[in-house]
Amino acid sequence: MKCLNILLLILLFNNVLIVKSQIISNKTSSTLILTGQGNPILHGKNYKLTKEASQAYQKMKSTAKKEGLNLKIASSHRAFDRQVAIWNYKYSKNMEADMTPEENIKKIIEYSTIPGTSRHHWGTEIDLIDADPEVEGDVLLTPLFEENGPYASLNNWLKKNAHKYGFYLVYTNEESRTGFKYEPWHYSYVPQSKRFLKEFLDINIKELINSKKILGKEYLSEDFIEKYINEYVLGVSKKVIE
Ligand SMILES: [Zn+2]
Repeated sequence: MKCLNILLLILLFNNVLIVKSQIISNKTSSTLILTGQGNPILHGKNYKLTKEASQAYQKMKSTAKKEGLNLKIASSHRAFDRQVAIWNYKYSKNMEADMTPEENIKKIIEYSTIPGTSRHHWGTEIDLIDADPEVEGDVLLTPLFEENGPYASLNNWLKKNAHKYGFYLVYTNEESRTGFKYEPWHYSYVPQSKRFLKEFLDINIKELINSKKILGKEYLSEDFIEKYINEYVLGVSKKVIE
């Protein structure tokens, strides 16, 4: 009897250990994936998205096509290293323009995120354009999406229909919103990204930044990061949070 009790105790202890290590490893892998460092399974021919986001996008694309609109993804999943390259390129360029480190960072975060904090790391985000009109140079510029711009009909169609497929505009032009500037092209697959945002808020971003080669990181203090999370990461449309 005593032997059986000890055996039961050992079995119980082992199970607790197994469960605990699974929780830790799940947390580690989701931290890596949500900061663009993991190797998530991504789907799509000319883009990279989670399976769910890709399926929803394909449905939206095929309806749009029937209605005469040729949807195209300009940008989808972006890895951490790519975001570091974007950040460091902009930082060096601004430095040449004689900006102070503070001015430099403020300028970059008008449109670009601190590496590790981009929603594009999640595989649920898309920057959308219309493949039909010929546009030279940078395609992600607000005036192109405004009335009489080449992407005006795309913009109107998305405003009316994207939500039917789970896609919502993140960086809206609402006065009440803080952080990144208006991006009429950036849509999020909210049924999934809503959960990712919650998980993301548990990650220690400061620790991650310290361990990587990011220009100007000594100016990204703990206070700065806290303010950035509140105003920028959480400065999104209410529809992608609630
Ligand atoms: Zn985007």
